[in-house]
Amino acid sequence: METLQEKQTGNTTGAETLVPITVAHGDGIGPEIMNATLAVLKAAGARIQIEEIEVGEKVYLSGNTSGIAAESWESIRRTKVFLKAPITTPQGGGYKSLNVTTRKMLGLYANVRPSISYHPFVATKHPKMDVVIIRENEEDLYAGIEHQQTDEVVQCLKLISRPGCERIVRYAFEYARQYNRKKVTCFTKDNIMKQTDGLFHKVFDEIGAEYPDIEQEHWIIDIGAAKLADTPESFDLIVTLNLYGDVLSDVAAQIAGSVGLAGSANIGSECAMFEAIHGSAPRRAGQNVANPSGLLHGAIQMLVHIGQPDIATKIHNAWLRTLEQGIHTYDIFKEGISTQKVGTKEFADAIVANLGQEPITLAPVEYKANGGMPKFTYVRKPAAKKELVGVDVFVHWAGSNPHELGELASKSNNGDFTLKMISNRGIMVWPSGFPETFCTDHWRMRYKATAEGATLNNKMITELTSRLADLGIDFVKLENLYRFDGKDAYSLGQGQ
Ligand code: NAD
Repeated sequence: METLQEKQTGNTTGAETLVPITVAHGDGIGPEIMNATLAVLKAAGARIQIEEIEVGEKVYLSGNTSGIAAESWESIRRTKVFLKAPITTPQGGGYKSLNVTTRKMLGLYANVRPSISYHPFVATKHPKMDVVIIRENEEDLYAGIEHQQTDEVVQCLKLISRPGCERIVRYAFEYARQYNRKKVTCFTKDNIMKQTDGLFHKVFDEIGAEYPDIEQEHWIIDIGAAKLADTPESFDLIVTLNLYGDVLSDVAAQIAGSVGLAGSANIGSECAMFEAIHGSAPRRAGQNVANPSGLLHGAIQMLVHIGQPDIATKIHNAWLRTLEQGIHTYDIFKEGISTQKVGTKEFADAIVANLGQEPITLAPVEYKANGGMPKFTYVRKPAAKKELVGVDVFVHWAGSNPHELGELASKSNNGDFTLKMISNRGIMVWPSGFPETFCTDHWRMRYKATAEGATLNNKMITELTSRLADLGIDFVKLENLYRFDGKDAYSLGQGQ
Protein backbone atom coordinates (compact mmCIF):
# COMPACT_ATOMS: atom_id res chain seq x y z
CA MET A 1 0.00 0.00 0.00
CA GLU A 2 1.20 3.46 -0.82
CA THR A 3 2.28 5.38 2.27
CA LEU A 4 1.10 8.89 2.90
CA GLN A 5 4.62 10.05 2.26
CA GLU A 6 4.75 8.32 -1.14
CA LYS A 7 1.39 9.76 -2.04
CA GLN A 8 2.53 13.24 -1.15
CA THR A 9 5.76 12.90 -3.03
CA GLY A 10 3.77 11.54 -5.99
CA ASN A 11 1.38 14.50 -5.88
CA THR A 12 4.02 17.14 -6.03
CA THR A 13 5.23 18.88 -9.11
CA GLY A 14 8.92 18.50 -9.80
CA ALA A 15 9.63 22.06 -8.66
CA GLU A 16 7.88 21.81 -5.29
CA THR A 17 10.04 21.23 -2.25
CA LEU A 18 8.62 19.01 0.44
CA VAL A 19 9.51 19.82 4.03
CA PRO A 20 10.43 16.69 6.00
CA ILE A 21 8.59 16.37 9.31
CA THR A 22 8.64 13.66 11.98
CA VAL A 23 5.25 12.30 13.03
CA ALA A 24 4.26 10.14 16.01
CA HIS A 25 0.75 8.69 16.16
CA GLY A 26 0.85 8.30 19.95
CA ASP A 27 -1.50 6.31 22.19
CA GLY A 28 -5.19 6.22 23.12
CA ILE A 29 -7.07 8.59 20.82
CA GLY A 30 -3.71 9.63 19.30
CA PRO A 31 -3.79 7.48 16.14
CA GLU A 32 -7.37 8.52 15.30
CA ILE A 33 -6.80 12.26 15.70
CA MET A 34 -3.46 12.06 13.90
CA ASN A 35 -5.02 10.25 10.92
CA ALA A 36 -7.78 12.87 10.78
CA THR A 37 -5.24 15.71 11.00
CA LEU A 38 -2.98 14.26 8.30
CA ALA A 39 -5.97 13.68 6.03
CA VAL A 40 -6.84 17.38 6.27
CA LEU A 41 -3.21 18.46 5.74
CA LYS A 42 -2.93 16.23 2.69
CA ALA A 43 -6.19 17.43 1.14
CA ALA A 44 -5.13 21.05 1.71
CA GLY A 45 -1.90 20.44 -0.19
CA ALA A 46 0.57 20.73 2.69
CA ARG A 47 4.05 20.44 1.21
CA ILE A 48 5.39 17.96 3.74
CA GLN A 49 7.21 14.65 3.68
CA ILE A 50 6.48 12.44 6.67
CA GLU A 51 8.92 10.31 8.66
CA GLU A 52 7.04 8.16 11.13
CA ILE A 53 8.40 7.23 14.54
CA GLU A 54 6.99 5.27 17.46
CA VAL A 55 6.93 6.92 20.89
CA GLY A 56 4.95 6.35 24.06
CA GLU A 57 3.35 3.40 25.77
CA LYS A 58 4.71 0.56 23.60
CA VAL A 59 8.23 1.95 23.80
CA TYR A 60 7.95 2.45 27.58
CA LEU A 61 6.63 -1.06 28.10
CA SER A 62 9.44 -2.52 25.99
CA GLY A 63 11.74 -1.40 28.81
CA ASN A 64 12.78 2.05 27.54
CA THR A 65 12.01 4.37 30.47
CA SER A 66 12.21 7.52 28.33
CA GLY A 67 9.51 6.34 25.87
CA ILE A 68 11.57 7.11 22.78
CA ALA A 69 14.29 5.14 20.96
CA ALA A 70 17.66 6.53 19.81
CA GLU A 71 16.75 6.33 16.09
CA SER A 72 13.60 8.36 16.75
CA TRP A 73 15.69 11.15 18.29
CA GLU A 74 17.81 11.00 15.17
CA SER A 75 14.75 11.60 12.95
CA ILE A 76 13.53 14.57 15.04
CA ARG A 77 16.98 16.14 15.13
CA ARG A 78 17.29 15.75 11.36
CA THR A 79 13.85 17.09 10.36
CA LYS A 80 13.76 19.58 13.28
CA VAL A 81 9.95 19.50 13.16
CA PHE A 82 7.93 17.06 15.26
CA LEU A 83 4.16 16.64 15.04
CA LYS A 84 3.19 14.52 18.02
CA ALA A 85 -0.13 12.95 19.02
CA PRO A 86 -0.74 12.56 22.77
CA ILE A 87 0.82 9.59 24.50
CA THR A 88 0.08 7.58 27.62
CA THR A 89 2.73 7.55 30.33
CA PRO A 90 2.33 4.26 32.24
CA GLN A 91 1.74 4.80 35.97
CA GLY A 92 4.66 4.07 38.34
CA GLY A 93 7.74 2.12 37.29
CA GLY A 94 10.04 5.13 36.96
CA TYR A 95 8.80 6.14 33.47
CA LYS A 96 9.89 9.65 32.61
CA SER A 97 7.53 12.10 30.91
CA LEU A 98 8.40 12.09 27.20
CA ASN A 99 7.04 15.61 26.84
CA VAL A 100 9.28 17.06 29.53
CA THR A 101 12.28 15.12 28.18
CA THR A 102 11.66 16.24 24.58
CA ARG A 103 11.22 19.88 25.54
CA LYS A 104 14.42 19.90 27.56
CA MET A 105 16.65 17.72 25.35
CA LEU A 106 15.79 19.80 22.28
CA GLY A 107 15.80 23.14 24.10
CA LEU A 108 12.14 23.88 23.23
CA TYR A 109 12.05 26.88 25.52
CA ALA A 110 8.78 28.49 24.46
CA ASN A 111 5.36 26.87 24.75
CA VAL A 112 2.74 28.81 22.81
CA ARG A 113 -0.89 28.04 23.65
CA PRO A 114 -3.69 30.11 22.13
CA SER A 115 -7.15 29.84 23.76
CA ILE A 116 -9.94 31.30 21.66
CA SER A 117 -13.72 31.09 22.09
CA TYR A 118 -15.96 30.46 19.09
CA HIS A 119 -19.20 32.02 20.27
CA PRO A 120 -22.01 31.36 19.35
CA PHE A 121 -20.95 28.05 17.79
CA VAL A 122 -19.21 26.52 20.82
CA ALA A 123 -20.80 27.03 24.24
CA THR A 124 -18.65 29.28 26.42
CA LYS A 125 -19.07 31.67 29.33
CA HIS A 126 -16.59 34.00 27.65
CA PRO A 127 -17.74 34.90 24.13
CA LYS A 128 -14.90 37.38 23.51
CA MET A 129 -11.95 35.34 24.73
CA ASP A 130 -8.79 35.38 22.60
CA VAL A 131 -5.67 34.87 24.73
CA VAL A 132 -2.28 33.41 23.93
CA ILE A 133 -0.32 32.01 26.87
CA ILE A 134 3.43 31.82 26.35
CA ARG A 135 4.93 29.59 28.96
CA GLU A 136 8.62 29.17 29.76
CA ASN A 137 9.16 25.50 29.01
CA GLU A 138 12.47 24.32 30.47
CA GLU A 139 13.13 25.76 33.92
CA ASP A 140 11.33 26.40 37.19
CA LEU A 141 10.25 23.39 39.26
CA TYR A 142 10.36 21.30 36.06
CA ALA A 143 14.13 21.01 36.34
CA GLY A 144 13.05 17.90 38.23
CA ILE A 145 15.72 18.24 40.92
CA GLU A 146 14.09 16.69 43.96
CA HIS A 147 15.54 15.18 47.13
CA GLN A 148 14.39 13.69 50.37
CA GLN A 149 16.53 15.30 53.06
CA THR A 150 15.05 14.14 56.35
CA ASP A 151 12.42 11.65 57.49
CA GLU A 152 9.79 14.36 57.17
CA VAL A 153 10.97 16.73 54.46
CA VAL A 154 11.46 16.52 50.70
CA GLN A 155 12.43 19.41 48.46
CA CYS A 156 12.12 20.43 44.80
CA LEU A 157 14.51 23.06 43.47
CA LYS A 158 13.07 25.99 41.58
CA LEU A 159 15.80 27.13 39.18
CA ILE A 160 15.37 30.31 37.17
CA SER A 161 18.14 31.62 34.94
CA ARG A 162 18.65 35.05 33.41
CA PRO A 163 19.18 33.61 29.88
CA GLY A 164 15.99 31.53 30.34
CA CYS A 165 13.99 34.63 31.36
CA GLU A 166 15.44 36.84 28.63
CA ARG A 167 14.74 34.28 25.93
CA ILE A 168 11.09 33.64 26.83
CA VAL A 169 10.26 37.29 27.49
CA ARG A 170 11.84 38.39 24.20
CA TYR A 171 10.03 35.58 22.40
CA ALA A 172 6.72 36.83 23.87
CA PHE A 173 7.28 40.40 22.70
CA GLU A 174 8.43 39.29 19.24
CA TYR A 175 5.40 36.99 18.97
CA ALA A 176 3.14 39.91 19.94
CA ARG A 177 4.61 42.02 17.15
CA GLN A 178 4.38 39.28 14.53
CA TYR A 179 0.85 38.21 15.42
CA ASN A 180 -0.44 41.72 16.03
CA ARG A 181 -1.12 41.32 19.73
CA LYS A 182 -1.38 44.69 21.47
CA LYS A 183 -0.67 43.88 25.10
CA VAL A 184 1.72 41.56 26.94
CA THR A 185 0.93 40.66 30.56
CA CYS A 186 3.48 39.05 32.86
CA PHE A 187 2.30 36.76 35.70
CA THR A 188 4.64 36.04 38.64
CA LYS A 189 4.50 35.59 42.41
CA ASP A 190 7.39 37.93 43.13
CA ASN A 191 5.83 39.31 46.31
CA ILE A 192 6.80 35.94 47.87
CA MET A 193 9.61 34.61 45.63
CA LYS A 194 11.66 37.77 45.32
CA GLN A 195 14.75 36.11 43.86
CA THR A 196 13.28 33.64 41.32
CA ASP A 197 9.99 35.23 40.25
CA GLY A 198 11.63 38.58 41.00
CA LEU A 199 14.21 37.92 38.27
CA PHE A 200 11.51 36.98 35.75
CA HIS A 201 9.62 40.21 36.52
CA LYS A 202 12.79 42.32 36.38
CA VAL A 203 13.76 40.87 32.99
CA PHE A 204 10.18 41.47 31.76
CA ASP A 205 10.56 45.18 32.67
CA GLU A 206 14.03 45.43 31.12
CA ILE A 207 13.12 43.79 27.81
CA GLY A 208 9.68 45.37 27.72
CA ALA A 209 11.40 48.76 27.56
CA GLU A 210 12.64 47.77 24.07
CA TYR A 211 9.03 47.32 22.87
CA PRO A 212 7.36 50.67 23.61
CA ASP A 213 4.76 49.99 20.86
CA ILE A 214 3.28 47.16 22.95
CA GLU A 215 1.22 47.78 26.09
CA GLN A 216 2.62 45.86 29.05
CA GLU A 217 1.57 45.05 32.59
CA HIS A 218 2.39 42.73 35.46
CA TRP A 219 -0.04 40.85 37.70
CA ILE A 220 0.62 38.76 40.78
CA ILE A 221 -0.34 35.27 39.59
CA ASP A 222 -3.10 34.56 42.12
CA ILE A 223 -5.24 37.59 41.39
CA GLY A 224 -4.16 37.47 37.73
CA ALA A 225 -5.42 33.89 37.44
CA ALA A 226 -8.72 34.87 39.08
CA LYS A 227 -9.06 37.75 36.60
CA LEU A 228 -8.24 35.43 33.69
CA ALA A 229 -10.94 32.96 34.74
CA ASP A 230 -13.45 35.78 35.24
CA THR A 231 -12.65 38.32 32.50
CA PRO A 232 -10.32 36.68 29.97
CA GLU A 233 -11.17 39.33 27.38
CA SER A 234 -9.01 41.80 29.30
CA PHE A 235 -5.89 39.78 28.38
CA ASP A 236 -4.21 39.48 24.99
CA LEU A 237 -0.90 37.67 25.50
CA ILE A 238 0.35 36.31 28.84
CA VAL A 239 3.98 35.38 29.49
CA THR A 240 4.76 33.40 32.61
CA LEU A 241 6.92 30.79 34.31
CA ASN A 242 6.68 27.08 33.58
CA LEU A 243 4.37 25.79 36.34
CA TYR A 244 1.97 28.74 36.29
CA GLY A 245 1.77 28.54 32.49
CA ASP A 246 1.15 24.79 32.55
CA VAL A 247 -1.83 25.14 34.90
CA LEU A 248 -3.26 28.35 33.50
CA SER A 249 -3.15 27.31 29.85
CA ASP A 250 -5.35 24.28 30.59
CA VAL A 251 -7.78 26.49 32.52
CA ALA A 252 -7.80 28.99 29.66
CA ALA A 253 -8.45 26.30 27.03
CA GLN A 254 -11.27 24.79 29.05
CA ILE A 255 -13.08 28.06 29.76
CA ALA A 256 -12.74 29.06 26.10
CA GLY A 257 -14.83 26.03 25.16
CA SER A 258 -12.98 22.72 25.49
CA VAL A 259 -9.46 21.37 26.03
CA GLY A 260 -10.20 19.34 22.90
CA LEU A 261 -9.90 22.50 20.77
CA ALA A 262 -6.51 23.88 21.75
CA GLY A 263 -3.16 23.23 20.08
CA SER A 264 0.30 23.94 21.33
CA ALA A 265 3.68 24.77 19.82
CA ASN A 266 6.96 24.06 21.61
CA ILE A 267 9.62 26.20 20.00
CA GLY A 268 13.39 26.03 20.31
CA SER A 269 16.17 27.73 18.41
CA GLU A 270 16.80 24.55 16.35
CA CYS A 271 13.79 22.25 16.65
CA ALA A 272 10.06 22.56 17.31
CA MET A 273 7.31 20.21 18.46
CA PHE A 274 3.59 20.64 17.79
CA GLU A 275 0.78 18.88 19.62
CA ALA A 276 -2.68 19.10 21.17
CA ILE A 277 -2.76 20.35 24.76
CA HIS A 278 -4.87 17.42 25.95
CA GLY A 279 -3.74 13.86 26.70
CA SER A 280 -4.44 10.46 25.15
CA ALA A 281 -7.94 10.14 26.69
CA PRO A 282 -7.74 6.31 26.85
CA ARG A 283 -11.44 5.98 27.73
CA ARG A 284 -12.36 7.44 24.33
CA ALA A 285 -9.81 5.47 22.31
CA GLY A 286 -10.83 3.37 19.30
CA GLN A 287 -14.39 4.75 19.17
CA ASN A 288 -13.98 7.39 16.46
CA VAL A 289 -15.41 10.04 18.81
CA ALA A 290 -12.44 12.24 19.79
CA ASN A 291 -12.17 15.80 18.57
CA PRO A 292 -9.09 16.16 16.33
CA SER A 293 -9.17 19.99 16.55
CA GLY A 294 -6.44 20.37 19.20
CA LEU A 295 -3.91 18.42 17.14
CA LEU A 296 -5.10 20.13 13.95
CA HIS A 297 -4.37 23.49 15.60
CA GLY A 298 -0.92 22.22 16.55
CA ALA A 299 -0.46 21.28 12.88
CA ILE A 300 -1.64 24.74 11.76
CA GLN A 301 1.02 26.32 13.99
CA MET A 302 3.52 23.90 12.42
CA LEU A 303 2.57 24.96 8.89
CA VAL A 304 3.18 28.62 9.75
CA HIS A 305 6.49 27.61 11.35
CA ILE A 306 7.70 25.77 8.21
CA GLY A 307 6.73 28.65 5.94
CA GLN A 308 3.38 27.42 4.60
CA PRO A 309 1.02 30.12 5.92
CA ASP A 310 -1.16 29.73 2.82
CA ILE A 311 -2.03 26.13 3.75
CA ALA A 312 -2.42 27.05 7.44
CA THR A 313 -4.90 29.80 6.47
CA LYS A 314 -6.87 27.49 4.18
CA ILE A 315 -7.22 24.79 6.85
CA HIS A 316 -8.05 27.19 9.68
CA ASN A 317 -10.80 28.91 7.71
CA ALA A 318 -12.30 25.59 6.58
CA TRP A 319 -12.27 24.45 10.22
CA LEU A 320 -14.03 27.66 11.34
CA ARG A 321 -16.65 27.17 8.62
CA THR A 322 -17.21 23.58 9.82
CA LEU A 323 -17.77 24.81 13.38
CA GLU A 324 -20.25 27.40 12.06
CA GLN A 325 -22.17 24.71 10.20
CA GLY A 326 -22.78 23.04 13.57
CA ILE A 327 -20.86 19.88 12.56
CA HIS A 328 -19.46 19.00 15.97
CA THR A 329 -17.79 16.12 17.82
CA TYR A 330 -19.43 14.97 21.06
CA ASP A 331 -17.33 17.19 23.37
CA ILE A 332 -18.66 20.43 21.88
CA PHE A 333 -22.01 19.12 20.67
CA LYS A 334 -24.96 21.02 22.15
CA GLU A 335 -28.65 20.77 21.23
CA GLY A 336 -29.84 24.07 19.79
CA ILE A 337 -26.35 25.09 18.63
CA SER A 338 -25.04 22.00 16.86
CA THR A 339 -26.69 20.47 13.78
CA GLN A 340 -24.84 17.18 13.47
CA LYS A 341 -22.91 15.01 15.95
CA VAL A 342 -20.04 13.45 14.04
CA GLY A 343 -17.08 11.19 14.70
CA THR A 344 -13.40 12.01 14.36
CA LYS A 345 -13.15 10.90 10.74
CA GLU A 346 -16.41 12.53 9.62
CA PHE A 347 -15.36 15.81 11.24
CA ALA A 348 -12.13 15.73 9.23
CA ASP A 349 -14.14 14.91 6.06
CA ALA A 350 -16.33 17.97 6.71
CA ILE A 351 -13.25 20.20 7.03
CA VAL A 352 -11.88 18.78 3.77
CA ALA A 353 -15.20 19.51 2.05
CA ASN A 354 -14.94 23.12 3.28
CA LEU A 355 -11.37 23.72 2.09
CA GLY A 356 -11.35 26.96 0.09
CA GLN A 357 -14.25 28.44 2.09
CA GLU A 358 -14.13 31.12 4.75
CA PRO A 359 -16.31 31.44 7.83
CA ILE A 360 -19.34 33.72 7.51
CA THR A 361 -19.96 34.83 11.10
CA LEU A 362 -16.61 34.16 12.76
CA ALA A 363 -13.68 36.28 11.64
CA PRO A 364 -11.56 34.56 8.98
CA VAL A 365 -7.85 34.22 9.73
CA GLU A 366 -4.93 35.08 7.53
CA TYR A 367 -1.48 33.84 8.44
CA LYS A 368 1.48 35.66 6.98
CA ALA A 369 4.97 34.46 6.23
CA ASN A 370 6.72 35.77 9.32
CA GLY A 371 10.25 34.81 8.39
CA GLY A 372 10.56 32.97 11.71
CA MET A 373 11.54 34.37 15.05
CA PRO A 374 14.82 36.24 15.30
CA LYS A 375 17.51 33.97 16.71
CA PHE A 376 18.07 34.62 20.38
CA THR A 377 21.63 35.33 21.36
CA TYR A 378 22.38 35.77 25.00
CA VAL A 379 24.99 38.35 25.85
CA ARG A 380 26.45 37.50 29.22
CA LYS A 381 26.73 40.54 31.48
CA PRO A 382 30.11 41.35 33.08
CA ALA A 383 30.54 39.29 36.24
CA ALA A 384 29.27 41.06 39.37
CA LYS A 385 31.38 41.57 42.47
CA LYS A 386 30.51 38.45 44.46
CA GLU A 387 31.22 38.30 48.19
CA LEU A 388 30.61 35.33 50.45
CA VAL A 389 28.89 36.68 53.57
CA GLY A 390 27.63 33.55 55.26
CA VAL A 391 26.19 30.08 54.87
CA ASP A 392 22.86 28.37 55.54
CA VAL A 393 23.42 24.87 56.89
CA PHE A 394 20.36 22.63 56.68
CA VAL A 395 20.27 19.88 59.26
CA HIS A 396 18.26 16.77 60.05
CA TRP A 397 17.48 16.95 63.76
CA ALA A 398 14.70 15.07 65.50
CA GLY A 399 14.53 17.34 68.58
CA SER A 400 11.66 19.72 69.20
CA ASN A 401 13.18 22.59 71.21
CA PRO A 402 15.09 24.95 68.88
CA HIS A 403 17.01 26.37 71.85
CA GLU A 404 18.70 22.99 72.37
CA LEU A 405 19.87 22.99 68.75
CA GLY A 406 20.90 26.66 69.01
CA GLU A 407 22.99 25.95 72.09
CA LEU A 408 24.67 22.90 70.54
CA ALA A 409 25.34 24.51 67.14
CA SER A 410 26.68 27.72 68.74
CA LYS A 411 29.61 25.61 69.96
CA SER A 412 30.82 25.68 66.33
CA ASN A 413 31.16 29.50 66.38
CA ASN A 414 34.69 30.81 65.91
CA GLY A 415 36.46 33.87 64.52
CA ASP A 416 35.04 33.23 61.03
CA PHE A 417 31.41 32.22 61.58
CA THR A 418 28.74 32.89 64.18
CA LEU A 419 25.32 31.21 64.27
CA LYS A 420 22.78 34.05 63.90
CA MET A 421 19.46 32.37 63.36
CA ILE A 422 17.66 29.04 63.08
CA SER A 423 14.48 28.64 61.10
CA ASN A 424 12.12 25.75 60.47
CA ARG A 425 10.36 25.67 57.08
CA GLY A 426 11.52 29.28 56.64
CA ILE A 427 10.15 30.66 59.93
CA MET A 428 12.63 31.95 62.51
CA VAL A 429 12.50 29.86 65.72
CA TRP A 430 15.83 30.82 67.34
CA PRO A 431 17.13 33.00 69.00
CA SER A 432 13.54 34.23 69.19
CA GLY A 433 10.29 32.87 67.84
CA PHE A 434 6.84 31.69 68.90
CA PRO A 435 6.31 28.41 70.77
CA GLU A 436 3.19 27.99 68.59
CA THR A 437 5.32 27.51 65.42
CA PHE A 438 5.13 23.90 64.30
CA CYS A 439 8.58 22.37 63.72
CA THR A 440 9.54 19.42 61.54
CA ASP A 441 12.90 17.59 61.61
CA HIS A 442 14.42 19.92 58.95
CA TRP A 443 16.24 22.99 60.33
CA ARG A 444 18.11 25.80 58.64
CA MET A 445 21.02 27.30 60.65
CA ARG A 446 22.20 30.65 59.33
CA TYR A 447 25.85 31.49 59.94
CA LYS A 448 27.25 34.94 59.16
CA ALA A 449 30.75 36.41 59.44
CA THR A 450 31.76 36.89 63.07
CA ALA A 451 33.57 40.15 62.31
CA GLU A 452 31.41 42.69 60.45
CA GLY A 453 32.53 42.98 56.82
CA ALA A 454 35.08 40.12 57.04
CA THR A 455 35.91 38.24 53.85
CA LEU A 456 34.79 34.62 53.98
CA ASN A 457 35.72 31.73 51.71
CA ASN A 458 34.75 28.13 50.95
CA LYS A 459 37.67 26.75 52.94
CA MET A 460 36.18 28.35 56.07
CA ILE A 461 32.88 26.63 55.27
CA THR A 462 34.52 23.21 55.08
CA GLU A 463 36.13 23.90 58.44
CA LEU A 464 32.72 24.89 59.84
CA THR A 465 31.11 21.67 58.56
CA SER A 466 33.95 19.69 60.04
CA ARG A 467 33.24 21.26 63.45
CA LEU A 468 29.51 20.51 63.01
CA ALA A 469 30.29 16.87 62.19
CA ASP A 470 32.42 16.69 65.37
CA LEU A 471 29.41 17.97 67.32
CA GLY A 472 27.29 15.17 65.81
CA ILE A 473 25.08 17.57 63.83
CA ASP A 474 23.73 15.85 60.70
CA PHE A 475 23.91 18.51 58.00
CA VAL A 476 22.06 17.59 54.79
CA LYS A 477 22.72 20.59 52.58
CA LEU A 478 24.58 23.91 52.40
CA GLU A 479 23.55 27.16 50.69
CA ASN A 480 26.18 29.86 50.50
CA LEU A 481 25.02 33.41 51.18
CA TYR A 482 26.34 35.97 48.75
CA ARG A 483 26.28 39.66 48.18
CA PHE A 484 26.31 40.57 44.46
CA ASP A 485 27.53 44.08 43.66
CA GLY A 486 26.97 45.08 47.27
CA LYS A 487 23.39 43.72 47.48
CA ASP A 488 22.37 40.79 49.67
CA ALA A 489 21.18 38.04 47.29
CA TYR A 490 19.23 35.75 49.61
CA SER A 491 15.95 35.90 51.48
CA LEU A 492 15.61 36.75 55.17
CA GLY A 493 14.06 34.26 57.55
CA GLN A 494 10.34 34.88 58.01
CA GLY A 495 9.97 36.77 61.25
CA GLN A 496 13.64 37.83 61.14
P1 NAD B 1 -6.77 13.71 28.85
O1 NAD B 1 -6.55 15.09 28.38
O2 NAD B 1 -6.22 12.62 28.04
O3 NAD B 1 -8.34 13.45 28.92
C1 NAD B 1 -9.20 13.97 29.90
C2 NAD B 1 -10.63 13.95 29.36
O4 NAD B 1 -10.78 15.04 28.47
C3 NAD B 1 -10.99 12.72 28.53
O5 NAD B 1 -11.46 11.65 29.29
C4 NAD B 1 -12.03 13.25 27.58
O6 NAD B 1 -13.30 13.26 28.21
C5 NAD B 1 -11.58 14.69 27.35
N1 NAD B 1 -10.81 14.84 26.12
C6 NAD B 1 -9.47 15.03 26.02
N2 NAD B 1 -9.12 15.16 24.74
C7 NAD B 1 -10.24 15.07 24.01
C8 NAD B 1 -10.53 15.13 22.61
N3 NAD B 1 -9.59 15.32 21.69
N4 NAD B 1 -11.81 14.98 22.22
C9 NAD B 1 -12.76 14.80 23.12
N5 NAD B 1 -12.58 14.73 24.43
C10 NAD B 1 -11.32 14.87 24.89
O7 NAD B 1 -6.24 13.62 30.35
P2 NAD B 1 -5.99 12.36 31.29
O8 NAD B 1 -7.14 11.41 31.18
O9 NAD B 1 -5.65 12.95 32.60
O10 NAD B 1 -4.66 11.69 30.74
C11 NAD B 1 -4.65 10.51 29.94
C12 NAD B 1 -3.21 10.15 29.56
O11 NAD B 1 -2.69 11.19 28.72
C13 NAD B 1 -2.25 10.02 30.72
O12 NAD B 1 -1.43 8.88 30.50
C14 NAD B 1 -1.41 11.26 30.66
O13 NAD B 1 -0.10 11.04 31.15
C15 NAD B 1 -1.38 11.52 29.18
N6 NAD B 1 -1.14 12.94 28.78
C16 NAD B 1 -0.40 13.12 27.66
C17 NAD B 1 -0.18 14.40 27.19
C18 NAD B 1 0.64 14.55 25.94
O14 NAD B 1 1.05 13.57 25.35
N7 NAD B 1 0.90 15.78 25.51
C19 NAD B 1 -0.73 15.51 27.85
C20 NAD B 1 -1.53 15.30 28.99
C21 NAD B 1 -1.73 14.00 29.45
